[in-house]
Amino acid sequence: MPFPQTRLRRLRATGALRGLVRETSLSASDFVYPMFVAHGIDRREPIDAMPGVDRLSIAHAVDEAGEAAALGIPAVVLFGLPAAKDEEGSGAWDDEGIVQLATRAIKEQHPGLIVITDLCLCEYTSHGHCGIVTAGGTGLVVDNDATLELLARTATSQARAGADIVAPSDMMDGRVGAIRHALDEDGHAETPILAYSAKFASAFYGPFREAADSTPAFGDRRGYQMDPGNGDEAVRETRLDVEEGADIVMVKPALPYLDLIHRVKTETNMPVAAYNVSGEYAMVKAAAAAGYLDERATVLETLTCIRRAGADIVITYHAKEAARWLQ
Ligand SMILES: [Zn+2]
Repeated sequence: MPFPQTRLRRLRATGALRGLVRETSLSASDFVYPMFVAHGIDRREPIDAMPGVDRLSIAHAVDEAGEAAALGIPAVVLFGLPAAKDEEGSGAWDDEGIVQLATRAIKEQHPGLIVITDLCLCEYTSHGHCGIVTAGGTGLVVDNDATLELLARTATSQARAGADIVAPSDMMDGRVGAIRHALDEDGHAETPILAYSAKFASAFYGPFREAADSTPAFGDRRGYQMDPGNGDEAVRETRLDVEEGADIVMVKPALPYLDLIHRVKTETNMPVAAYNVSGEYAMVKAAAAAGYLDERATVLETLTCIRRAGADIVITYHAKEAARWLQ
């Protein structure tokens, strides 16, 4: 029935009516809060491009995790800055490594909070790549199959430290299967895998690299992360991760890839996480600081729209402030 009988504005007349028919909800229970934990510091170190986000000591990470939990945020994801780096990234699977120590400390104080551990080598390798670097036909390349073994080792070490979920972010082929196998063999059959399934080689990761000190020393990550122009391939990547045993799949970044959040959700029916990445956060912070955007309204709209696109879980640096605004 067309206008004038049909008037969609009728249900927009008041806040109560709009709330009654709103299709997408946003709550702190949808959020995962990312944290950077650094070895050998005893204070917070601000990250220039990410106002409000600091590198944390373990003690500060425990406090900050407690703050997130008190705000109703169910999970944090940990990124580690080790004391030393080497060619292989051995700090990643050190049982006394920074992420393992932080995981134990957080779980001890906040046992109900879900600790997700980012699982990659780039924060631990001296060259900053996500795996073992070897000479290949086209110059230096990351050796896919040699890297799988190290990722599997890292996964079991993180699970032993008490990680509730491991989250491989490396984009090596076959890593989810290798990690699932290793976890099962090591007695961690109940530990879920959150796979960074469709992770794009994105300029929006810039501030994160400063935060995690993980800029590649040579080349870039386009040999393993996805090409921004590819949507069908994102669905293929995700399906392969599901076949290999992923429990939750991820699209990263979020805002320029909302179409793929939607496609991955509708084509796989899996629990989908979207990573609202450091560059997306930095843009809003910079515009708000300049007075160009209303920060609160912008953040809540952004997070709602990521959910509307199909994300069940939103990993966001805005998690704590958004949770406060939603109270
Ligand atoms: Zn990496």
